[in-house]
Amino acid sequence: MERIEEKLRILADAAKYDVSCSSSGSKRKNTGGIGDASASGICHTYTEDGRCVSLLKILLTNYCIYDCAFCVSRKSNDVQRAAFTVEEVVDLTMNFYRRNYIEGLFLSSGIFKDADYTMERLLRIVKKLRLEQQYNGYIHLKTIPGASKELILEAGLYVDRMSINLEMPTEAGLKLVAPEKNHQSVREPLQFVNEKIQALQGDQKVIKHKPLFVPAGQSTQMVIGATPESDLEIMNVADEYYKNYNLKRVYYSGYIPINNDNKNLSQIGTRPPLIRENRLYQTDWLLRFYGFKLDEILNPGFTDLDLDIDPKLSWALRNPQFFPVDINTADYPAIIRIPGIGRQSAMKIIQARKFGVLREFQLKKMGIAYNRARFFMVCADTAFSRGSLQMHQVKHHILKGGNSKFQSLPAANQLSLF
Ligand code: SF4
Repeated sequence: MERIEEKLRILADAAKYDVSCSSSGSKRKNTGGIGDASASGICHTYTEDGRCVSLLKILLTNYCIYDCAFCVSRKSNDVQRAAFTVEEVVDLTMNFYRRNYIEGLFLSSGIFKDADYTMERLLRIVKKLRLEQQYNGYIHLKTIPGASKELILEAGLYVDRMSINLEMPTEAGLKLVAPEKNHQSVREPLQFVNEKIQALQGDQKVIKHKPLFVPAGQSTQMVIGATPESDLEIMNVADEYYKNYNLKRVYYSGYIPINNDNKNLSQIGTRPPLIRENRLYQTDWLLRFYGFKLDEILNPGFTDLDLDIDPKLSWALRNPQFFPVDINTADYPAIIRIPGIGRQSAMKIIQARKFGVLREFQLKKMGIAYNRARFFMVCADTAFSRGSLQMHQVKHHILKGGNSKFQSLPAANQLSLF
């Protein structure tokens, strides 16, 4: 028992560097066994270091034949090593699940011996959980780059989400810190798993009971800040992977330096600011849910995101010709581009317009960030006139939280903004 606890301490600690563990999207139901990936709701509780505490998040082993400079499990790192057996992972998962400690399993691994040897063990774990233990809880499996197609496809029948890490955003960055690896070994499994998912969706029309195959889709993760890619390069890669492989999520994980004197790591000794990760996630969100094209937010003339303001505000300040947006006549895609107005508020605005024209006091009651949005919109009672207030002044006012000298002026577009 002590031995298992020791392994758990080592292998759960080693797994905490992987942030790609959110678990929404699975439709797996309880079919007479234990657990229910959808009914349990799988709450996403993240600790400060990025761990999702509702999942048992572990590595099968932190032994690894590779020496990726950014990774705590690299073979040259002087850390305590451990490896679970297949049965130990199955027992732990079942015990923790029964005691209500967890709502699912997030399983990853270092690579011992070779990719197939490791993948075959991961497959045995998920198969045993589903077939022998009748476990219907959530499973997120990290697949092993370079593992054979057959093993990965078979694992897809038993897991909810699959992911495979890109590690560094670009091939050039990857070569700097992990010369033995390449992005092709990530692209291939993403491609054939995606093809299989699409094929099964097509079969749904003709086959009533099609097998579940990776029902919560695929994701990937990039380490940010270890190598010198710009935000434009990072988001270009994310955009391409979303489009080509139909990914559910791309995760951006700030590099955490651990016992490393590798001179190829650009951020050696320091961690990139957390706000950079946040800005990348916000950009990711704008691309997926707000109708922005990547080159609107980042382009060769603007390669890195502002850290002091969010990317939607940054875009708005660089595109004054788009504003002001008339709240009473604009369509939904234009309204969600107004800084301070999110998708829910935009829907409320569209609904409320059916009952009459909207005035400023009504907007203020709708939960929008009015002190930000006011600079970019007009309502029925906004006396708009163009004038001399420049965008850098708008930015100053917003960053001051409404306490700047401009606050005394009555309303955004009255202030002769654009
Ligand atoms: S292959 Fe994976 S576990 Fe092994 S050193 Fe590289 S990143 Fe770490």
